[in-house]
Amino acid sequence: MVGIVVRIAILDRSQSRVKVIRGDMARALIIVDFQNDFTPGGALPVPDGDQISERINELAASGEFDLVVATRDWHPPEHGSFATSGGPWPQHCVAGSDGAQLHSSLDQRRVDVVIDKGQDPDTEGYSGFEGTGLERMLRDRGIDEVAICGLATDYCVKNTAIDALRAGFRVCVDERGIRGVDVHPGDCKRAIGEMREAGAVIG
Ligand SMILES: [Zn+2]
Repeated sequence: MVGIVVRIAILDRSQSRVKVIRGDMARALIIVDFQNDFTPGGALPVPDGDQISERINELAASGEFDLVVATRDWHPPEHGSFATSGGPWPQHCVAGSDGAQLHSSLDQRRVDVVIDKGQDPDTEGYSGFEGTGLERMLRDRGIDEVAICGLATDYCVKNTAIDALRAGFRVCVDERGIRGVDVHPGDCKRAIGEMREAGAVIG
């Protein structure tokens, strides 16, 4: 049975912005790979990757989410995505290393659950749903909709969003809360187009 979703937008004068009053929807925020190695100074920095911290913290503290999840890229030292193993990327986010820790600007008091991904040496592990218990956990908690932010737009954000849609969740991607790599100029723009085409709301 398809549930009826009631959404009423009202002006919340205290915050001078439109606030969404939810019906019985349960929402999760997924913060993708906001880790030291993906921010300036790290092993695989996303340009301005640290600039999203304020937005991420704002989302996490907004009270609009029933659950806040942070994913971490968490690779074995010989992961197949590393150049040393024939992959496209320099070694990054090796499990337990400083580079793999969540960025210090993230207010971790707002994070309910940390999901480690990319642990299988033979798969890319771009998506937070790949080889993890994320889908099960969201279902167990009755989550209907996920909002996605984090790094990087054209890899792990994109793949996480598309897998969430495939799994049947409603997906919003927070455009102010993401940054991308753009290895090929236009990759981020294309990634946003792909997510939208797959059914994500980009906002
Ligand atoms: Zn990785």
